[in-house]
Amino acid sequence: MGDPGTQRHQLVTRLQGFGTTIFAEMSALAERTGSINLGQGFPDRDGPPEVAEAAIAAIRDGRNQYPPGPGTPELRRAIAAHQKRFYGLEVDPDTEVLVTAGATEAITAAILALCEAGDEVVVFEPLYDSYGAAIAMAGARRKVVPLEPPGWTFDPGQLAAAIGPRTRLVLLNTPHNPTGKVFGLDELEEVARVCREHDLLAVTDEVYEHLIFEGRHVPLCSLPGMAERTITISSAGKTFAYTGWKIGWACGPGRLVAAVRTVKQFLTYVNGAPFQPAVATGLALSDEYFEGAAAKLGAGRDRLCAGLEGVGFDVYTPHATYFVVADVSRLGWTDGAAFCREAPDRCGVVAVPAAAFYDDPSAARPLVRFAFCKQPEVLDEAVRRLGTLRGAS
Ligand code: PMP
Ligand code: GLN
Repeated sequence: MGDPGTQRHQLVTRLQGFGTTIFAEMSALAERTGSINLGQGFPDRDGPPEVAEAAIAAIRDGRNQYPPGPGTPELRRAIAAHQKRFYGLEVDPDTEVLVTAGATEAITAAILALCEAGDEVVVFEPLYDSYGAAIAMAGARRKVVPLEPPGWTFDPGQLAAAIGPRTRLVLLNTPHNPTGKVFGLDELEEVARVCREHDLLAVTDEVYEHLIFEGRHVPLCSLPGMAERTITISSAGKTFAYTGWKIGWACGPGRLVAAVRTVKQFLTYVNGAPFQPAVATGLALSDEYFEGAAAKLGAGRDRLCAGLEGVGFDVYTPHATYFVVADVSRLGWTDGAAFCREAPDRCGVVAVPAAAFYDDPSAARPLVRFAFCKQPEVLDEAVRRLGTLRGAS
C-alpha cells in the first residue's frame, strides 16, 4: 500500500526546495546579528498617518467582523477609481475586483484558479520567490525567459520558444523585483502579441506601480486584446508603506475574477476588515502623495547607488521598486550568496543573494540585492559599514 500522503509530501518537499522565504530568512539573520537589514523589502517608517488613522477609526467603529467575500464595497470602488484615474481603465467594482490577502494571495489564487496540473506558466527570470511555489502548488510547470543585464532585456525569440501546447499563461512582474526594471511599451507589446497569438491568459504583478523613478508604468491589460485575458494584481503594502497590512487585489474580466474568488474563498475566505476602508482612503490620496512617495524613494535609490559605487560595488541602477542589484566582484567575492552569508558578521549589513530569484543559482553568481526603502542615515551607515569590506574577502 502506498502512503496516502505521498503526493502531498512531494509537494511539501518541492516547496521546501524553495527554502523558507529568503526574505524572512535574511530578516532573521539581521535580527540575530544586529545588522542593518537591507534584505527583506519593507520601509523603516510608517506610511501616511491619515491612512493609519482610517484603520484605527475603522476598528473603533466596529469594522471588525468578516467583510464581504469580494472585499468591502468602498475599497472595491476605490480600486476601480484608481484604475480609471491612473490608467483610464474601466473596471466594474462589483464583478471585476477582488480584494485579497496581499498580492501574494492574489497571485497564488490566480494560478490555482487558472492552471490545470501539467499546464505551463511562462515567467521572466529573475523571478519573485512566491511564483515558483504557487506554480508548484497548482501542479503546473514554469518555463523561464531570461532577462539579461545590464538592461534586463529579453530576447523575443526566447519568449516565443518558451510557448508550447501546454502553455496556459504568462506571469509578468512590472515594475520588476529584484531588478527595478520597468517593462517598456515595446516589450509589453511583444508579450501581448504572444498572448493573443497563442490565446494565453496573463497575470500581472504590479505591486510597485507607483514606485517609479524613470519611465512610466503601463498595465499589460491596457494593450489591445489584453483586457479580456488579463488578471491585474497589485497591493497596498508598497504604495502606502504598510507592508504588514496585507491588502492586495486582483482586477480583470468577471469570469476570471470569479474563478480567482472561488479559490480565495478557501484560502483565507476574507481578510483585513478594518484595513480595507483604510486602503480606500489611501487610494484616494492626492497626486502629491503618490509623486512624493516615489520622489522620496528615488532619493534613497540615488543615495544607496552612489554609496555602493563609492565603496566598490558595480550597480545596476534600478528605474523603480525598493531594490538595487549590485555586483560584488570588485570587492573580491565571486559568489553573492557567500557575500550575503558573510557580510552580517563581517560588517553588520544584510542583503539578499540574487541567486534566490533564479532556477539556476549560478546564473546570478556575483549579484546581490539591497533595499533602499530606509531612512537616509540608515543607508549612509550601511554604506560606511560596507566600505570596510574592500579587499577584506
Ligand atoms: N510581488 C512582488 C514582486 C513583491 O516584491 C512582493 C513583496 N511585497 C509581493 C508580490 C507580495 O506583496 P504582498 O505583500 O502584497 O503580498
Ligand atoms: N517582497 C519583499 C521582498 O522582495 C518580501 C516579502 C516577503 O518576505 N515575502 O523583499
